[in-house]
Amino acid sequence: MPLSPNTVARLADVLKQGATDRAAARELGIDKSTAAHHRARLGIAPAPKASPTHPTLTVQEKWRTFLRPVEAGHMEWAGRRTKSSSTPVFTHHERTYTARAVAFRIANGRAPEGYVTAECDHEGCVAPEHMADAPGRTRVRAALAIITGQENGRPECARGHRTAEHRRYLPDGSPYCGACQSARKAAGRAREKAEAGR
Ligand SMILES: [Zn+2]
Ligand SMILES: [Zn+2]
Repeated sequence: MPLSPNTVARLADVLKQGATDRAAARELGIDKSTAAHHRARLGIAPAPKASPTHPTLTVQEKWRTFLRPVEAGHMEWAGRRTKSSSTPVFTHHERTYTARAVAFRIANGRAPEGYVTAECDHEGCVAPEHMADAPGRTRVRAALAIITGQENGRPECARGHRTAEHRRYLPDGSPYCGACQSARKAAGRAREKAEAGR
């Protein structure tokens, strides 16, 4: 049944205000396909994603859509991962976010310092309460180093970097010097670059 001119005019208004076909159809009590047909006929562009009748998700809401809760409060990531390092990531309004950084912010109410890791025993976990940033990770692992007797108490590393500033720990609590490791990584990258340029 064709729509009355009145209904068509109202439909045009609603569509121009940014309604999706579905929202417009619901509002006017017509079929979604009818709304789509009139949109095409009237030459009205598709609804923008951020329209008031079709609100977009916030970063945290979008993050939540990729979560799969598993046992013991751990959560797995059903979204995309980076090819190079398998880091769980997602895109929101054309910006890429790492799932763990968003999880950290949810649990701590602030942005992380350094990169975020899961400090639990569940591989690939993204549960907010299990996330730690660099300072948090160092604190937890330093306590573990003491418990496991791996803390050597030296004020400096063999190359003279101050422990208080540069000491880092592996997940099992074994200590290493962060400054020495950064230097090693930089040297490795320089070597790769030199080899690639040959
Ligand atoms: Zn976990
Ligand atoms: Zn060092």
